[in-house]
Amino acid sequence: MNQQRDEYWMRHALGLARLAWEQGEVPVGAVLVQDERVIGEGWNRPIGQHDPTAHAEMMALRQGGKVLENYRLLNTTLYVTLEPCVMCAGAMVHSRITRLVYGAHDVKTGAAGSLLDVLGIPA
Ligand SMILES: [Zn+2]
Repeated sequence: MNQQRDEYWMRHALGLARLAWEQGEVPVGAVLVQDERVIGEGWNRPIGQHDPTAHAEMMALRQGGKVLENYRLLNTTLYVTLEPCVMCAGAMVHSRITRLVYGAHDVKTGAAGSLLDVLGIPA
């Protein structure tokens, strides 16, 4: 059951990654879910936005904060198509998301276990 939900939301994130691809960005998508409801979405946009922090995860976390009117994104799951970088993993620690599900490992810059494990550092 839980795995089916994870697959459903990961498919949603993949759809967002496609938007990034269509805009000439590195294709990464992210969706933030609370109680089976989308509270944040994002896709990679650093090139188009001229913003080095415009990663899919950052966009989804920012939107989630606005929706919840709280920087603490408690009881949420973030689905990302690719393992997060150091910046995004750090933002996840600050935002206190409950759970991260990512699609593919990123052996070059992944900060959720591949290169580093930012999420595993005791807060
Ligand atoms: Zn990132």
